[in-house]
Amino acid sequence: MENTGKTEEQVKSRVCKRCKTSYNPSSNDASSCRFHPSFFVCRRHDDQKRYYELGPDDPPYAAKFYDCCGAEDPEALGCTTSFHISYDDN
Ligand SMILES: [Zn+2]
Ligand SMILES: [Zn+2]
Repeated sequence: MENTGKTEEQVKSRVCKRCKTSYNPSSNDASSCRFHPSFFVCRRHDDQKRYYELGPDDPPYAAKFYDCCGAEDPEALGCTTSFHISYDDN
């Protein structure tokens, strides 16, 4: 009494482990995935690279930004595009 029914007719959408968006593997191209290659960090900006002014009431660690491009909005669109990466890929 084995159930060998396979349902591989449907294209399974996958979830990108980088941007957490579900995508269709057949339409995955080099500009599908928008992401930040670095993490969103909470620390002082590196004065060597760029200087960001803090408000008069902000503590020096108030700066939160993406380490890669300096975007200060966590919702900011990724500064880099590439293929989506599924959890199955290695
Ligand atoms: Zn970035
Ligand atoms: Zn992605």
